[in-house]
Amino acid sequence: MGNTVLYIEDNPDNMTLVKRALESRGYAVLEAGDGLTGVETAEQNDVDLILLDINLPDIDGYEVARRLRANRKIDLAYIPIIAITANALKGDAEKALSAGCDIYMSKPINIRELWARVEAFIPSPAVK
Ligand code: MN
Repeated sequence: MGNTVLYIEDNPDNMTLVKRALESRGYAVLEAGDGLTGVETAEQNDVDLILLDINLPDIDGYEVARRLRANRKIDLAYIPIIAITANALKGDAEKALSAGCDIYMSKPINIRELWARVEAFIPSPAVK
């Protein structure tokens, strides 16, 4: 099993924070700054898990999740997707799950929660 995480996020501060946090645990991180780039990056690379911001500048995270689940690259139908919602509103979480995300986390991103959530799907390469 690989250890590559694709993070689809338009906020550079979150991108830097999460990238550093995951790289410190031995994951490789691919970056995409908007939804369409995210879908394309998932199609063109071997990715093991996707972290998906919901509020994106082009198509939103719900639409990204739907396009991944319906993608002709069949792996993307099953890849773990963790949605990152801007607030804890119940509607956002339910929309993320019904769009095909496996679980969701609320912003602000808590690094320990992030590690635990990611490790539940793909073991950290740094922990032997
Ligand atoms: Mn955003």
